Amino acid sequence: MKKENDMSDFPGRGGRPGGGRRRPPPQPVEVVRVERITPRLVSVHVAGGDLTRFQDAAPTAHIKVFLPAPGQDAPVLPTMGPEGRVWPEGQERPTVRTYTPRAYDPATGALEVQFVLHGEGPASTWAEQAKPGAKMALGGPGGRFAADLAAPRWFVAGDESALPAVATLLDALPATASAQVHLEVSGPEDEIAFDSKADLTVTWHHRRAADAFGVELHDAATRATITGGTQVWVACEASAMRRIRRELIDGGVPHASLVTRGYWRLGVADHPDHDNGED
Ligand SMILES: Cc1cc2nc3c(=O)[nH]c(=O)nc-3n(C[C@H](O)[C@H](O)[C@H](O)COP(=O)(O)OP(=O)(O)OC[C@H]3O[C@@H](n4cnc5c(N)ncnc54)[C@H](O)[C@@H]3O)c2cc1C
Repeated sequence: MKKENDMSDFPGRGGRPGGGRRRPPPQPVEVVRVERITPRLVSVHVAGGDLTRFQDAAPTAHIKVFLPAPGQDAPVLPTMGPEGRVWPEGQERPTVRTYTPRAYDPATGALEVQFVLHGEGPASTWAEQAKPGAKMALGGPGGRFAADLAAPRWFVAGDESALPAVATLLDALPATASAQVHLEVSGPEDEIAFDSKADLTVTWHHRRAADAFGVELHDAATRATITGGTQVWVACEASAMRRIRRELIDGGVPHASLVTRGYWRLGVADHPDHDNGED
């Protein structure tokens, strides 16, 4: 039996022995409903056991999805030993990826997770084929909400991977807030509607070339007037996020008002979940 730290799916959150709160092992769940929201965004509702902890997930929180390895019906999962997780030997471990807990429905006990179908990658492929009855497991929620929810003005920018997180953020904004929201997607068919009590100005940008990730968001950040007291939240491809972050800092946005996240990195599988571009 191989041992591994029980926080390995939430690096930087007390994952070293003696370094913080222990998390339970991943929770097995089953797909109960699948809906295509847009041609490239699929909503997967999962249930199984008690998921009520997701009701209180912070805006833009994240989860780990544990997906079956090829040829498996359900992901192989660890048990908890005195020194952390213990994985069964001789069985392929699951694919683990980071997603956003979009919404918990107390009426059904199900959690909604929205997957971008980006073409390659085990999680995208799994979601494209997901049907009711498919098995996976969930870890989390994790992720501290670093922005100031009481801020009166917001500049929010994200690509397709950040649409679920942006939606959780807009859900949480108060009526006293106003938000400029810039979203970059492939085309008009990828646009979705948002609910918010806040006063939203949503601008959709269509990628000028298939691989021009974040270029439109960078242009939007360059053109934006970001006045004092504006809270900025940006999540997209990691290199694009760094260019946007640099632009905003050079434009005078204080570090304290800036939350930037690299949600994935071009050409890299399983980009870490805690990339805030401070390098
Ligand atoms: C905090 C956090 C929350 C996230 N929430 C969501 C969410 O709710 N929904 C969601 O869809 N994603 C979300 N992501 C992004 C998601 O974790 C990555 O897109 C992940 O890489 C997908 O795994 P995969 O197995 O499909 O591809 P991987 O095996 O990780 O990557 C395979 C290849 O696909 C490319 N790739 C990965 N993602 C994309 C993409 N979005 N567009 C184009 N190419 C890509 C990679 O560069 C790589 O070359 C989140 C990420 C973070 C850090």
